Amino acid sequence: MSTIRNIVILTGAGVSAESGIDTFRAGSGGGPSLWEQHRVEDVATPEAFARDPELVLRFYDMRREAIQAKQPNPAHVALARLDAEWNGELLIVTQNVDDLHERAGARRVLHMHGEHLNAWCTWCDKRSRWTGALIDRPACPHCGERALRPDVVWFGEMPYRMDEIYAAIRKADLFVSIGTSGAVYPAAGFVRDARRCGAATLELNLERSQGSNWFDETRLGPAGRLVPEWVDEVLA
Ligand SMILES: [Zn+2]
Repeated sequence: MSTIRNIVILTGAGVSAESGIDTFRAGSGGGPSLWEQHRVEDVATPEAFARDPELVLRFYDMRREAIQAKQPNPAHVALARLDAEWNGELLIVTQNVDDLHERAGARRVLHMHGEHLNAWCTWCDKRSRWTGALIDRPACPHCGERALRPDVVWFGEMPYRMDEIYAAIRKADLFVSIGTSGAVYPAAGFVRDARRCGAATLELNLERSQGSNWFDETRLGPAGRLVPEWVDEVLA
């Protein structure tokens, strides 16, 4: 590990699962994907918001309230420690929309799928920190229009800040994927981009993923155990 200076870490649902945060899950046997008893198509697409905004806003209001009662787990804490102690470049790209990386103390975090605790004004395009409800259509603090929506990337929408992510991957000496399915693009392609640019690649996951074959090394187990072990290694 002595030649490693620039690290890019991709985190997914597996990192927050041990904090009790559920994401949508693929239906078994070809059935619909479900998220808290809702079909993904009914709550997490722009079409759903246009069709039934109350359902979507209520769903996200519940999620926003729920995550504020959750706590970071040892995986978040270990990554925050790495962020604090690592002298080289580091970027934690997360697919998670909770704020558990930040609450554990991590600072170099990029939310490619947005954040539950932000509201996005579709009128003025500004973001506001938002911990309350959106169901009553509150006014945007910036422009006063009642045009706030959850600042989360829905299915069919472009992930945020891809240029920054690719720039970091191009410079990376080590790419680490933690708790992701390896099934959802563009994130599923990051490991190949990292390899092409010469980075070593490591996967930490509960079980083998669709992308496992692309990694130099895969370690299997719960994130709450694997991540602290790996951070100890890197900082040793
Ligand atoms: Zn506004």
